Amino acid sequence: MAKRNYYDVLGVAKNASDDEIKKAYRKLAMKYHPDRNPDNKDSEAHFKEVKEAYEMLSDPQKRAAYDQYGQAGVDPNMNGGAQGFGGFAEAFGDIFGDIFGGGQRGQAGASRVYRGADLRYGMEITLEQAARGYETQIRVPAWESCTTCSGSGAAAGTKPQTCPGCSGAGTVRISQGFFSIQQTCPKCHGSGSYIAQPCGSCHGAGKIKKNKTLAVNIPAGINDGMRIRSAGNGEPGLNGGPPGDLYVEIHVKAHSVFERDGDDLHCQMPIPFTSAALGGDIEVPTLHGRASFTVPEGTQPGKTFRLRGKGIKGVRSNIPGDLYVHVQVETPVKLTEAQRALLKQFEQSLADGGERHNPQSKGWFERVKSFFE
Ligand SMILES: [Zn+2]
Ligand SMILES: [Zn+2]
Repeated sequence: MAKRNYYDVLGVAKNASDDEIKKAYRKLAMKYHPDRNPDNKDSEAHFKEVKEAYEMLSDPQKRAAYDQYGQAGVDPNMNGGAQGFGGFAEAFGDIFGDIFGGGQRGQAGASRVYRGADLRYGMEITLEQAARGYETQIRVPAWESCTTCSGSGAAAGTKPQTCPGCSGAGTVRISQGFFSIQQTCPKCHGSGSYIAQPCGSCHGAGKIKKNKTLAVNIPAGINDGMRIRSAGNGEPGLNGGPPGDLYVEIHVKAHSVFERDGDDLHCQMPIPFTSAALGGDIEVPTLHGRASFTVPEGTQPGKTFRLRGKGIKGVRSNIPGDLYVHVQVETPVKLTEAQRALLKQFEQSLADGGERHNPQSKGWFERVKSFFE
């Protein structure tokens, strides 16, 4: 089934503000909320769709990836299968708590469904990979239903029994002084069932951990700390609940030449003092090759040159950032006698020419003089 565009789902323009998106979501979520449309499959589907669109568009990073790459940008492993929606109970937590009173929903005990936990995968990439985009494969944990016990977790010939601790309710009441507190049953951890003889293959879990390979497309321009969601690739849910999501968290390694600041790059570049004095064309490396720029005659140390468009095109940007080259004028070392003689001669010619060759020194000496007077 083809997915509808998230902006269409919420009925907002592609350049809608965060506020407009939030407003549209509240309105639609109220309309299709399962509490207002009991047993209506159609509005349930709408509600999920609206919720997913909001989750995506309310997160600036996800929205950026979606704007640029569509569905593939936010979910490189789309398989058309189960999407990692939180249960309805989870949906209450964020904006419905205040409208509907925020009470605990769902039946306690064995029938309660849990969404699987989200998984996080840290991925280290280079600045070049971040700038150009990167396709790779990762090994992530996955679970299969245990074939020995058909997923029940109980040893052959036995069945999970109603938990004796809570009689299947999943919760127990404990008394503390005058108060009686309801707690998750410590014996069954809320599942309501109890396995007397666990299956030898899965130790009662009903599932076996395996690994699987996932293809991951890192969009060009991604920055350190950004996350890519792979829906449904987290841990499996409990009692038929939906699986969690997998988040690939990007760490960009420090680069030997460039430092990134948003979409801009910075680099420190030494140039010979003769080039600084005489001017000339200087070649600099860029992430995509080389570029050259002109250093004017009389360039001072610390001068910064901006090379437009030689930075990084961010996930959210339409145009690439700039490259800032900070030049450091280098004093030559290990001079030969001949070179020393030339510089001596040069020094004398500067002295003969007066202060005009060293405007900064001139200004400085004038300030020192007035300070003493
Ligand atoms: Zn129990
Ligand atoms: Zn088993």
